[in-house]
Amino acid sequence: MTRRRWIADTWTETSASLQGEQAAHLARVLRAQTGQVFDVVANGFLHRAEVISAAENEVVFALKEQLEAEVCLRIHLLMAVFKFDHMEWGMEKATELGAARLSPVIARRTEKHLAQAAAKRVERWRRIVREAAQQSRRSDVPVVDDPVALKVALGGVSAETRFLLAETEQENSLRNELAREPLRESLPVALAIGPEGGWTAEEMALFSQNGWRPVTLGPRILRAETAAITGLAVCAAMLQGS
Ligand code: SAM
Repeated sequence: MTRRRWIADTWTETSASLQGEQAAHLARVLRAQTGQVFDVVANGFLHRAEVISAAENEVVFALKEQLEAEVCLRIHLLMAVFKFDHMEWGMEKATELGAARLSPVIARRTEKHLAQAAAKRVERWRRIVREAAQQSRRSDVPVVDDPVALKVALGGVSAETRFLLAETEQENSLRNELAREPLRESLPVALAIGPEGGWTAEEMALFSQNGWRPVTLGPRILRAETAAITGLAVCAAMLQGS
């Protein structure tokens, strides 16, 4: 039977603990008992772990042997800030699909009230990806950066393979561009998704100056969250053969 997986809030070399809502859920709702065994991610590693104490404010585990964890996709997703409910759904799905880092970007066409509210939303975004990571049995939690302007976000991208998802691109598809990459497995890739109104011409030029290649996902115009999910699915298929 598949063991339930938890992502620890704190850890030492030999123990790990859940606190806050996670502890309350495990202790009160799932009625954890000492001696019960779960999978626990602590310090980036997956372990078999045994409950040694269970209270509503803290559940403590003894860490047992390390288990083999899945290889994560090294994908950095830049997402222009768009309607929060759609964007958050996209973040959840991007986590399930294996994105390693999400950078919310204040684009020229990000609606003003969303741009102003974005900074206060980051904690919620971090909670969403953490829950999605746990639910999808990941052994890491994607990093969610603070929202910043495009120029700043571009300066923080380390992946050398960079694709700008653009509905205006007619020829080069993400799939074909990835197929041309040598040593595809574990290739770090950055993908950028525009806001509902798309990127402006100046923003497209800035991407180009920073070595981003425009690519298409096909002839139809996708909503931003659909483009994010499709781009990640293509990367997963091409980089991991899944
Ligand atoms: N500017 C467009 C318009 O109003 O007609 C729509 C932008 S679309 C809703 C939002 C983002 O999704 C785009 O900036 C792009 O990053 C991505 N996108 C949508 N369709 C795409 C496609 N067929 N290929 C690549 N990217 C796409």
